Amino acid sequence: MPVPGCMAMISGRDAHDGRDAALSILDRLPVGVCVVAASGIIHHANPALHTLLACEPGGLPGRSLCEFGLDTCDGGGPVADPARAHRALRNDGTVCRVTVAEAPWTSLPSGAKAEGGAESLRLVTVTVTDVDAVYRQTVLADDDESQAGSPAAGTLLEYGGNVGYEAPVLVAKGATRFPAKDAFRDESGIAGVTRDLDDLHPNEGRLEAILEQSPIGVSVSRRDDGCIIFVNTRFAELIGLPREKLIGSRARDYYLDSHQRLRVLERLRGGGGVTNMEVQFRRADGSPFWTLFTVNQAVIQGTAVNLAWIYDYTERRSMEEALRDMASRDPLTGIFNRRSFMDMARAQLARAHRFHEPLSVFVLDVDHFKRINDSFGHATGDDALRMVAAGCQAILREYDILGRLGGEEFVVVLPGATADESRVVAERVRRHLARMPIEAPDGTFRLTVSIGIAGLEGATDTLERAIHRADLALYRAKHLGRNLVAVFEPGM
Ligand code: GH3
Ligand code: MG
Ligand code: MG
Repeated sequence: MPVPGCMAMISGRDAHDGRDAALSILDRLPVGVCVVAASGIIHHANPALHTLLACEPGGLPGRSLCEFGLDTCDGGGPVADPARAHRALRNDGTVCRVTVAEAPWTSLPSGAKAEGGAESLRLVTVTVTDVDAVYRQTVLADDDESQAGSPAAGTLLEYGGNVGYEAPVLVAKGATRFPAKDAFRDESGIAGVTRDLDDLHPNEGRLEAILEQSPIGVSVSRRDDGCIIFVNTRFAELIGLPREKLIGSRARDYYLDSHQRLRVLERLRGGGGVTNMEVQFRRADGSPFWTLFTVNQAVIQGTAVNLAWIYDYTERRSMEEALRDMASRDPLTGIFNRRSFMDMARAQLARAHRFHEPLSVFVLDVDHFKRINDSFGHATGDDALRMVAAGCQAILREYDILGRLGGEEFVVVLPGATADESRVVAERVRRHLARMPIEAPDGTFRLTVSIGIAGLEGATDTLERAIHRADLALYRAKHLGRNLVAVFEPGM
């Protein structure tokens, strides 16, 4: 709408000259323009509007815009209104399509004060909407010719009537805006007005508000130097630093484990991203936390960046660990149950075969355990089993694996130890347990254990066979009087 520009041109002159200059400019405009009161009564109309509405020169002042079907003001005061499509009823009874826009009129034409006061005057611009021309104009201005063939246009061409619709339109350099289009059709084609509805659609401010509400930490860092350029509140909370401190710092500073960081970098260097990788980060106070970490590469305003999402996974992970642990542990003693012992022992056995290293197994059974239960009760029996497990652990090396085979029977794998070396360890265990006082309701008692040992035999030996041989040695130890260690020998 060129009119406000014209008004700016004359603003420096004195009131009277300004008014006349404004009116003379209006009179020369190729679009229909008039100054109207709140009532819709026309004060001044330029020659173009007279022609447009098929009126004799000077025939419009004093008449109402409503007579021409054009009053756009619904009593809401002098608020600038977006252009709307209208049908104008011309003085000669014909109809034409126009767009009408209005704005408050601040430069008074003569006689205006007497009629209604400065505030209530409006400047109304009426533009003939030569159908296709206007439609094409709005569409092409939006740089999207395909809109001219939009479904709405097709519907209008076929059925006529009015259509209001929203359609995304590409504007300069790939940005998208969402204008609303009001269009109608009659004999000569489609006319339409495009209004910018962008306020109702996501924009930077709104997207930032959404990021702020996110339960997931978000950061953006520059790809070339790793410098963090954006974090949301959740990210700052997770790291435990204010945003100002985080921005400008390096993403690398927050990784706990340099191997995990290198794995992420490798994927990014390969042009890819990382999705929900379990990565440990460090809070400002040094404490670690587990995250599900997602990183993608992007270009934002010309800068190559890494977009990272971190989801605090610490609680879930420790729950998972606890569950995993529960599944692999014997609930009474806390040592490995039979199944997980077998898994780990098998892995050690495979390793021993591969590197031609020794490995041995011993099986430990509490002597006359039935009597312990019978004398002190089952609960004390349970305590005794816990004490036996703890006593074994106190003597064994860190990389020996201790499991409960069932009942009062335990099993140990000693990687790297021959049967003879294991005998020394087993003797130590046996002596330690025999000296260990165990609490019973009326005083303490002691127990003894018997242990059978077997070393690996050949490159094809299996865990099951080794345990079986250790069992045979154990049987021998029991047979020889208990509280003994026996090493398997052929013929047992
Ligand atoms: P031996 O010297 O020949 O090994 O005699 P033992 O009495 O130790 O052997 P036996 O196999 O006859 O008895 C094992 C007992 O261990 C029987 C069973 O009730 C008890 N037992 C098995 N599991 C548990 C347990 O979890 N808690 C308790 N308190 N007792 C258990
Ligand atoms: Mg026993
Ligand atoms: Mg037994």
